[in-house]
Amino acid sequence: MTKILSKSTCDDCGKEFDSTENSCPKCGSKNITKHICFTENVPLNIRDRVKAKAKDDTLPSKKKVVFEYRQGFEESQSTESGYVQKERLIDHINDKYKEVVADEDGKVIHHCEESLSKHQGHGSAKKSNDNSHKPD
Ligand SMILES: [Zn+2]
Repeated sequence: MTKILSKSTCDDCGKEFDSTENSCPKCGSKNITKHICFTENVPLNIRDRVKAKAKDDTLPSKKKVVFEYRQGFEESQSTESGYVQKERLIDHINDKYKEVVADEDGKVIHHCEESLSKHQGHGSAKKSNDNSHKPD
């Protein structure tokens, strides 16, 4: 998965070479700088995620979260890469629900935008009271 790439550059002639070498293969200089960098294969799920939550303390504990927004990469079987970008908004204040799922390149796979009360009428979303127990 994560691949660490190490490379060296020669301080004298600027040649790039594999860091297993201790001197420049071109000019023999020992003035070399080692670089360590991660390749493109860094797992997507550690990329930045955006999360926002708002609570209304006047409401009973289970209904406290009145606003929730999430954006980020999630694991998914539906794309070749195994990851999707997901954006989800649950807004109890304005009665809004939005979910956008896109593949790695930003191509939208699933887009759902409706009033939250209507969305919660859907079968799988009915158990909304249990949301507070879900692991994050
Ligand atoms: Zn050199």
